[in-house]
Order: sequence, then C-alpha cells, then structure tokens
Amino acid sequence: MADKNDRMKIEKADKIGFCFGVKRAIDILEKVARERGGVETLGAVVHNRQVLQKLAELGVSVARNVEDIRGDVVVTSSHGISPQLEEEIRARHIEIISTTCPFVLRAQVAARRLAEAGFLVIIFGDAEHPEVRGILGWTKGRGIAALDDKFVAGLGQIPRRIGILSQTTQVPTQFTAFVNKLIDTAFIRDSEMRLIDTICHDIRERQAAAIELAGQMDMMLVVGGHQSANTNRLAELCSQITQTHLVETAAEIQPSWLEGKHRIGVTAGASTDEQMVNEVLKSLKA
Ligand code: SF4
Repeated sequence: MADKNDRMKIEKADKIGFCFGVKRAIDILEKVARERGGVETLGAVVHNRQVLQKLAELGVSVARNVEDIRGDVVVTSSHGISPQLEEEIRARHIEIISTTCPFVLRAQVAARRLAEAGFLVIIFGDAEHPEVRGILGWTKGRGIAALDDKFVAGLGQIPRRIGILSQTTQVPTQFTAFVNKLIDTAFIRDSEMRLIDTICHDIRERQAAAIELAGQMDMMLVVGGHQSANTNRLAELCSQITQTHLVETAAEIQPSWLEGKHRIGVTAGASTDEQMVNEVLKSLKA
C-alpha cells in the first residue's frame, strides 16, 4: 500500500497483522472468556500490551505462575508449555485449555523424538523465552538452548549424536550461521547431526517482506510490543538496512524522527493488532 503526497511516501509491508498462531490463540481465548464470563491465562498469552488490555475487557486475567491461578481452568499461550508444567497444573486439579501454535507443537514433537532417539537436542534460541523453555522441557533433560556455540566448551565430552532445531521466530540466516559453527566445533569422528528446520513460515515471510521494504525506505517503523521477541528481531533486521524505530503505539512516534524523511515504511510483529498499525499510519499521514 502506498500513500503519496508532495513530501512523504508511506508504505506498509505486505505481511502484517496477527500471525496464524496468535490469531488462533486469541480466538480460542475470547471464546472461552465469553462462555465462562472470564478466564485466567498462564503468563501473557501474547507479548502485546494493547491486545492484553482488550482481552482484560472480556474478563481475561493473567496468572504469573501456577501458584497464582485461582480458578479451576487456565488457558496456556501459543508459546506452549513443558510436560513438567502441564503435570504441575494438573496435580492441582486445574483444567488446561491449550492454545499452543501448531508450529510450536511441531518443534516440541521434534525435540521429544530426537531426545528419545538418544540425541543431545540443541535449540537455537533464547533460553529464557517461554517457547524455548517449553521445547526444552520436552527433551526431558537432554536439551540445551543457545544463541552461539560457546556452550560447546562447557560440554566436557561432545556427544556423537546432536539434533539441532530453532526457536520458531529466529532469523533463518542466523540459524544457518549457528549450524555452520556447530559443524566446525562439534562435528567429531563418527558423529551424527540431525537438523530440523522449525522456523515458522509466517516469520520467514514477515522478515523477508520487512527487509525488502526497508531497502527502499529512508526510515522504518516496526509496530509491536517492546517485549515481543519477533518484533525486536524485525526491528534488528530493518536497522541493518535503514534507520529504524520500534513503537508500541502511535503516541511513541517522535516528530524529530520524520525530519528529512521522504519514504517511510511500516511493518509489525506477529502479535500486533492491525488496528494499531492503522493508527500508526493515520498518525504518520497527519
Ligand atoms: S509466529 Fe509462527 S510459530 Fe509463533 S505463534 Fe505465530 S504462527 Fe505460530
């Protein structure tokens, strides 16, 4: 979409709005909240404050941990949870309504199968992110999450069988670079390495569309939660190409950013409501 006037052209990336998994999670959550007159989620169901505010109006509240859950049912996020956490919740006789994204589920199944087949599972991802914590749980102690190959030095003996997969929202080229380093450092005689591509196709398309647009713009605005991993990654990718700012709302746009800029591109994270993107576009045009 292009909007032109004498001084400024504003263009929106092709791939924008909720991704399939976030939309599905919100639909399930809204339905449950309406039927029950409110429900608790374990942690934030999406990393976007504006979306969470809207959900709160439907009676959705966030339990920070299992001890925090007051009711007898809880909705888990699209990031998925570990089997250990599932067990802990069920032991308290709390029903679980899962909104785990099918692409995250695929990564969980891959991790479980690799671990059961005797592989050390290496996840290219942020060990503190809920999705990665969940996937690690499925390896039942036979997994490691890392963003570089430094962990290899601490392994003692390098295992012969190594399985590698990725957090769904990582950047494909960075994943490939990580795998190449592992081949250089941890590929030993008679070893076996199995690589499973678990990067989500929505994220691939979103990143590719943002990169393409950034190449034609003087500045990019990435709309999304400051805490959202995939939004931050989009901003990081765009900033390698042109001046980039991550904004959660239109109110965060600083007029000084726009000085001397003639072509402004807008993209958004997978958990950003399209309405928020439209507000940013409206504000830019104004
Ligand atoms: S970004 Fe991809 S993996 Fe994550 S919730 Fe969305 S569709 Fe699922």
